[in-house]
Amino acid sequence: MREQTTRQAQDGLTPMGEGYLQETWATSEPEFLNMLQTVWKNIDKEELVALTRDLIRIPSVFRPNSPSGNEKHVAEFLTRYLEEEGFTVQTEEVAPNRPNVWAVMEGSPGKTILFEGHTDVVTEGDSEDWRYPPFEGVIEGGRIYGRGACDTKGNLAAAIMAVRAIKRAGQPFPGRIILCIPVDEEGLMLGIKQFIKAGHAEGIDGAVICEPEENQLCVTQKGALRISVRVQGKMAHGAMPLSGINPITRAARFIVAVEELEREEILKHGKDPFLGYPSFTPTIMMAPENAEPQINVMPAQALVALDIRTIPGQSHPEIIQMLKDCLVRLKAEDPLFEAELDVIEERPWTETPMSDPVVQSMTAAYIQTTGEKPYYNGVPGATDGTFLHSWAGIPIITTGAGNRLVPHQKDEWVDIEELETACKLYAATALNFLLY
Ligand SMILES: [Zn+2]
Repeated sequence: MREQTTRQAQDGLTPMGEGYLQETWATSEPEFLNMLQTVWKNIDKEELVALTRDLIRIPSVFRPNSPSGNEKHVAEFLTRYLEEEGFTVQTEEVAPNRPNVWAVMEGSPGKTILFEGHTDVVTEGDSEDWRYPPFEGVIEGGRIYGRGACDTKGNLAAAIMAVRAIKRAGQPFPGRIILCIPVDEEGLMLGIKQFIKAGHAEGIDGAVICEPEENQLCVTQKGALRISVRVQGKMAHGAMPLSGINPITRAARFIVAVEELEREEILKHGKDPFLGYPSFTPTIMMAPENAEPQINVMPAQALVALDIRTIPGQSHPEIIQMLKDCLVRLKAEDPLFEAELDVIEERPWTETPMSDPVVQSMTAAYIQTTGEKPYYNGVPGATDGTFLHSWAGIPIITTGAGNRLVPHQKDEWVDIEELETACKLYAATALNFLLY
């Protein structure tokens, strides 16, 4: 049982696809379908490809010590691009040279939908390992290659092209469409946090998170808790261990206890249909933490870090309390046990009901775009949508082109046909959401 659940918990990508919506609707009103066709006619595949390549060619890996190592240049490019298209663009610096960009398109009074795609990308690693140069946007075999091709510059380009198509179609529509282009999604998500704190996310009724999900409709996201525990010991000669207090054996007791907590949480919450099992993974064990390790020296301190991933139904405060209780128990068994727990980062899980208008709208849009029913899934990690949902209370749905395993790897790519489908899907989602 333990073996099996652990392996499945690690396999967070397994799409379980709990069937389709029972009551899907996709309007067949001729007036709406005509409008949709007019909008789609304003989507140009070549321009979508060109914009994706332009974005890839402006490296935006966050490198704190490099003068150009941030999102500034890509943000400036997008500001110019959107202004030339007639959008009113706003920017706000989140950190030096790291500006958020957003544009608002106003129709008549109605609902508001937001499309979100981040400007930063993860490191290319060693570019010698790449078959294609990471920042050139090479096209081969119907794919665009480069860092950010699918995570998420391609999908950001698709969202921009979708909103631009609605603008160019020139037909009146009710409501507001916001293009939100924040920094630092791959880091601490400072961009979206700032966007929300500054009040820009107020009055938004639904958000589409543009990330590589194989155009599957992701309605849930795992939560994450990053915890550090410092176990305090007393340094001693390895030949005279009784004169010290060993933090390593004590840290080991904590790690074993965490494994038991994981088992209890799995038994209690079971398997999420989209996200699999929750997991409590020790990822760092360091002793000594800041001193030189030596085989004949018992260190003074040990550090254990946990990467905890949660599924809907689990409570983060309860988990933190369980871990603290565990430390209290270990101290009761051993008065020399001294440890301190810190929560480094907390990202709640999210769940958007199938009945929510943003899910219903994208479902209808998917059927109109592809002629097929959509496949539902969950996002195994956190995204900027995590904070739009948990801090701003906005219902979110995540989708976009790109194989789910490709982000952060070398030779990252996106399929051009799939990207065009994402673009049409975004445009159709906006219209379904605002008109129904
Ligand atoms: Zn991303």
